[in-house]
Amino acid sequence: MYYPEPIAKLIDAFSKLPGIGNKTAARLAFHALRMKEEEVVDFAKALVNVKRNLTYCSVCCNITDVDPCRLCQDKHRDQSVICVVQEPKDVIAMERTKEFQGLYHVLNGAISPMEGIGPDEIRIAELLRRLTDEKVKELILATNPNIEGEATAMYLSKLVKPFGLKVTRIAHGLPVGGDLEYADEVTLSKALEGRRELL
Ligand SMILES: [Zn+2]
Repeated sequence: MYYPEPIAKLIDAFSKLPGIGNKTAARLAFHALRMKEEEVVDFAKALVNVKRNLTYCSVCCNITDVDPCRLCQDKHRDQSVICVVQEPKDVIAMERTKEFQGLYHVLNGAISPMEGIGPDEIRIAELLRRLTDEKVKELILATNPNIEGEATAMYLSKLVKPFGLKVTRIAHGLPVGGDLEYADEVTLSKALEGRRELL
């Protein structure tokens, strides 16, 4: 099917997004064509802004518009517990439970030999630095309950052993192979409550 170049380019751009096939990309592109001009401009601006105005927190490596991020700046949070998650969206999932009052560390990925992602490709060095600097007593490993998440949790538990911290892993009951972000609040709260110590 032949499309004029601008629309073909937009379809191509949409189809690069996760979960968007060619059909959906075409539908979105034609929808954009019908939108008001100011709506389209706002949409484009929001896309550019997310790239230009967001950075990684120099403490927890979460995405933020202020550095350190608001969670790291919050003195009411328990500074002795760090919950380690894979992605910024996992912090949102944990915060939704209103169960966890400590700090976070966002790895921005997981160890995956299959995809060639080793420990140096994710924010592990930054985590170790925090363990030497801060008064951390417990590390909760809340990586995803799938192969990469488990491998990362195992790797970390061995790595941090010399620090003599309590290292816990969130309980199963989370759907195996799933992502933290898709767990409902109750399941995630229970998983946090039932975390077990890794020896
Ligand atoms: Zn932070």
